[in-house]
Amino acid sequence: MASLSLEHINKVYPNGFQAVKDFNLDIADKEFIIFVGPSGCGKSTTLRMIAGLEEISSGTLKIDGKVMNDVEPKDRDIAMVFQSYALYPHMTVYDNMAFSLKLRKVPKDEIDRKVRDAAKILDLEKLLDRKPKALSGGQRQRVAMGRAIVRNPKVFLMDEPLSNLDAKLRVQMRTEISKLHQRLGATIIYVTHDQTEAMTLGTRIVVMKDGVVQQVDTPQNLYNKPSNLFTAGFIGSPQMNFLDAKVLPNGDLDLGEAGKVHLPAEKAKKVVDGGYVGKTVVLGIRPEHLDDDPELVAKCDSTIKAKIEVYELLGAEVFLYFTVNGANMTARVNPRTEARTGSEVTFGIETSKIHVFDKETEQVIT
Ligand code: ATP
Repeated sequence: MASLSLEHINKVYPNGFQAVKDFNLDIADKEFIIFVGPSGCGKSTTLRMIAGLEEISSGTLKIDGKVMNDVEPKDRDIAMVFQSYALYPHMTVYDNMAFSLKLRKVPKDEIDRKVRDAAKILDLEKLLDRKPKALSGGQRQRVAMGRAIVRNPKVFLMDEPLSNLDAKLRVQMRTEISKLHQRLGATIIYVTHDQTEAMTLGTRIVVMKDGVVQQVDTPQNLYNKPSNLFTAGFIGSPQMNFLDAKVLPNGDLDLGEAGKVHLPAEKAKKVVDGGYVGKTVVLGIRPEHLDDDPELVAKCDSTIKAKIEVYELLGAEVFLYFTVNGANMTARVNPRTEARTGSEVTFGIETSKIHVFDKETEQVIT
């Protein structure tokens, strides 16, 4: 069992910079938690405070209910995997994995069993005699994981463990880590700035910006119900389209010459009741909720007209890039589309799926 709780955690570095602000989170046993956000948002600092590598300025960190703030890193029962694999170059794979157990004076036969078990899980059995320089990036990464696994820790902390790998290997290792999580049944906290990695690996995701938690949710909820503009724009690729729109008295959104959006009754009510009539709000539309199929567009009561600037065929889908009222937009449409660069296109909007944000507070209205 390994549950964690972070209560009102703050980090102020000695130079006075506050890297983490009032971080609160309860992590259940066996969860795969992702910290995601742009560079410098405080992900690594938070992870390092959990590991005990960085002092907690204020707040309480508990593991299984016990306060850990002043417990030495080695006594926290945590294993950390870094982006630089930090393998010992002069040691074999076997010795790299056995090293921490030897330090702990674990009996030799037990070390052997643990190393071989981990090697089996990670498919490293045939590489145990090799030195790190004779391994591929992915294999080195697996050895780094192996070193953590043999310790059988309560919690695994991983800081961008895949960032040194090429794109193909990253995808492969991503699946490996997912399987590993299921096999080990361990609690994992994983830091990345890559939203795709976050979405595919996490059972829950913590989105951070400027040291502040923006939203904590399942991948599905983050995608479908972002609570503010930042999360909406950060999660999803290509990213959500944002357009300024004026709210009309009946709750419709006016986009000027580009068109008008008729919100479903429930959404319109929230906008009107929220006191936004006459004000400018931000409309959020995911690229897949714009469609140029003429049959569909004919049935749509909300459309946007635009001239296509770039047509991009990706095989199973087409991305169309265009500008509306100065905002860059993307539509993700069927490859059967007749639109090409230069085409004048009318897109139908799937209004039940759109989001409306307060322009000032950047919080979601509906
Ligand atoms: P990245 O994805 O680039 O690793 P991150 O989200 O992990 O970013 P952190 O490494 O946690 O970010 O850093 C958060 C902020 O704290 C950054 O602005 C960074 O410059 C600052 N910072 C980190 N270490 C120190 C330090 N020792 N002293 C002062 N400021 C620091």
